[in-house]
Amino acid sequence: MRCSRCKSQDTSVIDSRLTEEGRSVRRRRECTNCHYRFTTFERQEMTSLIVVKRDGTREPYARPKLERGIWLSCTKRPVTREQLDSLLSRLEEEWAAEGQEVTSAKIGESVMLELKKLDSVAYIRFASVHREFKDVEEFKEELGKIFHK
Ligand SMILES: [Zn+2]
Repeated sequence: MRCSRCKSQDTSVIDSRLTEEGRSVRRRRECTNCHYRFTTFERQEMTSLIVVKRDGTREPYARPKLERGIWLSCTKRPVTREQLDSLLSRLEEEWAAEGQEVTSAKIGESVMLELKKLDSVAYIRFASVHREFKDVEEFKEELGKIFHK
């Protein structure tokens, strides 16, 4: 997406949400070159991402499924639905930009990284389910990093 002021190709999405009728996505973008902010309405393409699971089988990406898992990790934490929505929109764009297929491991890792910035408890809950910690020591070490900083 080109900046409408300086024509730079280098813009980043700062907010992304579905319009009310659900057919397009309203995006706030900022030009990384001149910092001009603008809004675009982009037609919602049905996400055609394919998830490659650990055992090599593939299935269509389904946001609600992933969202449920993350939401569960956020139980009683100060994380809002809006934060989750925009987190997922940003990640979906990243994955789609890298190709049509994304591994479930990559999905887990990206969600973990983003959750870590949002809420450390939600992060560790999500991580304990999705990352296969090699052993108990590794898990403890990760916990230690978070809670004994
Ligand atoms: Zn610009």
